[in-house]
Amino acid sequence: MMDEFCLIDHFFKKQALSRDEVVYGIGDDAACVNVPSNQQLLITTDTLVAGVHFLADWDPYDIAYKAVMVNVSDIAAMAAKPCWASLALSLPKMDSAWLKGFSQGLHEALQKYAIALIGGDTTRGPLTITLTMHGLAPSGKALRRNGAKLGDKIFVSGELGAAAMAVSWLPSHEKELSKDEQQTLSRKLKHPFARVDLSDILQQYAQAAIDISDGLSADLYHICDASGVGACLSLTALPIHSLVAKYQSENALSFVLGGGDDYELCFTVSPKREKDFLLALAKANLTCYPIGEIESKKGLRMMTGQGRIVSLPPQGYRHF
Ligand code: ADP
Ligand code: MG
Repeated sequence: MMDEFCLIDHFFKKQALSRDEVVYGIGDDAACVNVPSNQQLLITTDTLVAGVHFLADWDPYDIAYKAVMVNVSDIAAMAAKPCWASLALSLPKMDSAWLKGFSQGLHEALQKYAIALIGGDTTRGPLTITLTMHGLAPSGKALRRNGAKLGDKIFVSGELGAAAMAVSWLPSHEKELSKDEQQTLSRKLKHPFARVDLSDILQQYAQAAIDISDGLSADLYHICDASGVGACLSLTALPIHSLVAKYQSENALSFVLGGGDDYELCFTVSPKREKDFLLALAKANLTCYPIGEIESKKGLRMMTGQGRIVSLPPQGYRHF
């Protein structure tokens, strides 16, 4: 039977990749890193609890992968680059097979973004994964929620709704989908891709940003609230995921606006910079979708296909 220290060494320390800025990582009472000059450090923590964010019977690989992605997504929303992570793991029991899958998912996801695992904590308790992610951005360039201005165009970085459909609809309708479609949906939920590929462009052109973890309306509402503005979305401009449109067109709006877990970014761009922003996107071979505009009137609204304006509640997932 492995003790706590063998476990840390075997599953976490041995496989952690290293980065130039890490002076020392796992093994001391604290890790030590050099912050490069002219850069600022961004720090975020997200906890995943069994039964709340994932089901305990999920493949441990997927649980770890998702824990990394939700944290990288917060760094991406600040237009920063992820660098180092620490992991606080609470496990009901020592289970080598589970830890093997978990550490594989963890290290593969971290490697995808060249993130070094620099420390953590391991305890016995209900299955809970807390990851703290550190990111870097050139000084003064990190994006916040509070920079949206009247007249800004609102963009999202990808199609929405698939993860919410995978949570609430897929389990009881698997047979209606092809194997490929099932896999696409379930990957949207379990292996989202955190949008760090947009960081450089957002640093240059965006005014405010957030990642869509609780649903578009709840998350856009945070931008509006922090910026002291409101927003009007255009219903026909919302990028609905193709499988949502194919199988759940009647619920598409509730998946897109109220369903979480998409991990795309929502951000605003000044109309003066929009043309250059779109050119930069095209040059980088990236696509984002314009979905509405920032207005001075507080709250969220949506223009329907018939040109009617309806108000939108800031719905979304809330723990309390
Ligand atoms: P301490 O008792 O001083 O808090 P620990 O015994 O908890 O130290 O941890 C020993 C070392 O292993 C520390 O460097 C810590 O950061 C690291 N560590 C502990 N658990 C994990 C984990 N799950 N993943 C990565 N590093 C870990
Ligand atoms: Mg400790």
